[in-house]
Amino acid sequence: MKIAVIGAGVMGLTAAHVCALRGAEVHLYERRPQIGRGCSWYAGGMLALWCEMESAEPLIGELGLESIAYWRMHFPHVVEKGSLVVAPPRDVSELKRFAHRTSHYEWIAREKMAELEPDLASRFETALYFGEEAHLDPRETLDLLRAKLVIDYGAIFHTDTLLSPENAEGDFVLDCRGYEARDVLPDLRGVKGEMLILRTTEVTLSRPVRLLHPRIPVYIVPRADHHFMVGATMIESGDRTRFSARSMVELLNAAYAVHPAFGEAEIVEMGTDVRPAFADNLPRIRRDGRILRLNGLYRHGYLGAPALARRAADIVFDGAVFPEVER
Ligand SMILES: Cc1cc2nc3c(=O)[nH]c(=O)nc-3n(C[C@H](O)[C@H](O)[C@H](O)COP(=O)(O)OP(=O)(O)OC[C@H]3O[C@@H](n4cnc5c(N)ncnc54)[C@H](O)[C@@H]3O)c2cc1C
Repeated sequence: MKIAVIGAGVMGLTAAHVCALRGAEVHLYERRPQIGRGCSWYAGGMLALWCEMESAEPLIGELGLESIAYWRMHFPHVVEKGSLVVAPPRDVSELKRFAHRTSHYEWIAREKMAELEPDLASRFETALYFGEEAHLDPRETLDLLRAKLVIDYGAIFHTDTLLSPENAEGDFVLDCRGYEARDVLPDLRGVKGEMLILRTTEVTLSRPVRLLHPRIPVYIVPRADHHFMVGATMIESGDRTRFSARSMVELLNAAYAVHPAFGEAEIVEMGTDVRPAFADNLPRIRRDGRILRLNGLYRHGYLGAPALARRAADIVFDGAVFPEVER
């Protein structure tokens, strides 16, 4: 079976991987010179299934559980340290509200906080600890996926190649172009996300920390070499270029509220891109003859892509049907 995958973001790469695992000959086409430099590049990489259930539909829970199992099985660098949710003392009611809408957490007090994140112990009296959550470095993961595909499965990458799915050769074509697939998915909308990468040696965190805030909830994800990803705004817009002053102020304020030492951090990167989303914020597989369009991952790219990829492979290889995503 020969499969063409158009778009090498997290959706295209996981779809290619799952099809290669089942024995397909895979060709990937990516319009940029390097893979993974679209929306997937800017993600926090949080596999925060239980926190996301605060506002997500149950389908995300189902896809999320399957996707987390996929990452754990294929990528040993997934960090299994859970995540923390905190709130400034004046917003403790937000923490209670969040707890009311989620599960799989424990309330922790200062003593346990000192054990988990010593740098935050003096700042937050209480927090929610989601011990079963995990996170990964999205950029490292995308590169590893590419290496795995080339070395283990002989997949062929065609970078710098802008291709219309209709013109691709193959028994099946997986259209994984993210927000750029609006030409054929008119109900796809953009949800802009802005993020920062800060660097400081003054703060140490071992796991993602979410700061609840009535207006702009923010999270900080630790990365290698004293880097921290601070994200992310959620703005109804398809503009993937402009990082606003307001967003910068809000993200930095939130980081500062988690730990004042972030005030002295170096701003290493300001990033912005557009999450592809349908009206209900749930992903879809749309069939169009031999073309399957895998899209609408919204803020659940890493949490949803492997499970959507597996469904696409079952459609291609077994003629399976998945009404929950084929809408
Ligand atoms: C700031 C931010 C933080 C986020 N945090 C998280 C998080 O913590 N956890 C999580 O699960 N999700 C997160 N997300 C969401 C996640 O990043 C997206 O859901 C996901 O990246 C969408 O992946 P995709 O592969 O569909 O799109 P993309 O990553 O945009 O990939 C599409 C690819 O297709 C290529 N392409 C387009 N047209 C063509 C063509 N004609 N020919 C060839 N190639 C083409 C593009 O160049 C691109 O590489 C975040 C998003 C943002 C913006």
